Amino acid sequence: MKELKWRKCPLCGAWSFYIDIPGNVIITFRITNTGEITFTCHDRTYPITDQTRIHCLSCSWSGTIDDLD
Ligand SMILES: [Zn+2]
Repeated sequence: MKELKWRKCPLCGAWSFYIDIPGNVIITFRITNTGEITFTCHDRTYPITDQTRIHCLSCSWSGTIDDLD
């Protein structure tokens, strides 16, 4: 079985991210190296694309999924 690895923030190495959606709602998630997104907030999901601006939960980094380590 292939081991799943979480993609990491290029600045601090953390692997929890969030997006801000209208209404001041924060959606938190992790993403594996195979591109699978696991939402870590209660019963909320949101379509995240390559262009979605995402933010690191642990530092001030923001960018897209493509920028992750
Ligand atoms: Zn970070």
